[in-house]
Amino acid sequence: MRVYNFAAGPSTMPLEVMEEAQRDFLDYNNTGMGICEMSHRSKPFDAIHNECISLIREMLNVPDNYSILLVQGGASTQFEAVPLNLLVKGRADYVVTGKFAKDAFNRAKKYGDVVAAASSEDKKFTYIPKVTPDMFRDDIDYVHVCYNNTIFGTHYNTLPDVGDKVLVADMSSCIMSEEIDVSKFGVIYAGAQKNLAPAGLTIVIVRNDLIGNHKDICPTMLAWKTQADKNSLFNTPPCFSIYMCCLVLRYLKKTGGIKAKAEVNRQKAKLLYDYIDSSDFYTNKVEKDSRSLMNVPFFTPNEELDALFVKESAAAGLSGLKGHREVGGLRASIYNAMTLEGVQALVDFMKKFAAEHAQ
Ligand code: PMP
Repeated sequence: MRVYNFAAGPSTMPLEVMEEAQRDFLDYNNTGMGICEMSHRSKPFDAIHNECISLIREMLNVPDNYSILLVQGGASTQFEAVPLNLLVKGRADYVVTGKFAKDAFNRAKKYGDVVAAASSEDKKFTYIPKVTPDMFRDDIDYVHVCYNNTIFGTHYNTLPDVGDKVLVADMSSCIMSEEIDVSKFGVIYAGAQKNLAPAGLTIVIVRNDLIGNHKDICPTMLAWKTQADKNSLFNTPPCFSIYMCCLVLRYLKKTGGIKAKAEVNRQKAKLLYDYIDSSDFYTNKVEKDSRSLMNVPFFTPNEELDALFVKESAAAGLSGLKGHREVGGLRASIYNAMTLEGVQALVDFMKKFAAEHAQ
């Protein structure tokens, strides 16, 4: 039986895509070899690679003056690639809104004069601080934000206003879940393992004038120019993840693109938040205008019930609902591939559990 998988990443993928990949696993397109066995320099893989890049451009409406890089190392590697590529004047400001935003900030400090311009740590990262251009220092190379905070369930529901500064965003847990104006960003990066592919692929979308200014100490593999000059084939890319990403993007396109997906994502999130808000059993501690459409942390009245919820929900075919250890409680990650039916099944289970355990 296929369960509803609410894990934060790697996470659920569209069934249709999984079935297609299953067919290609042993024999891709009558080549007599499986997709994982194929040279990254072969014609069939080259076609997949280029289609993946062009679908990213098409789906996100990426302007021509941006490059799309397919790299390895996860978003965590970009935490250091960002300062190594962008610190020319040597200064950058960060908005600290959670664990990964803080990790990015701490890693960047190694490479320059890097400060936190704002933080929501005062209230355990339960909100997104309002961002205005006057918060940032003059003469900085960029402002870094984490657009969706996977662990804390917060999200920028309006574009952070950084004035004329270069905006860099970690979009690991929200990429392709909503329409965004790429031209407002200098760099967008994302691990693909939540909305787009199995782990192993990291997408970097970077404005061309920001490529090539990397520091001398920047490792060759972290310099964006290295991959930009070679269409992301400088070395062996994560072929299987790129192939899967390509299938997911074809599926996204076929089902109406990001606009249609965002509409379903809003419905899914509304269904869950409305139920939590209407219940006197469950709580979500995030300020309403900072709530994530992708990650929904919530709590029952106590830790024992949280633990029981995890156990009983798993037995009912709802997997991955344990909250992150930094927050506790429960968390439902409802990425692009989670269906409305899946969220409805979760809400139905929550109602039943609350009725059985109301105090
Ligand atoms: N940023 C965000 C927002 C994340 O959710 C994660 C991983 N869950 C990371 C960065 C780290 O990504 P990776 O594991 O790909 O290095």
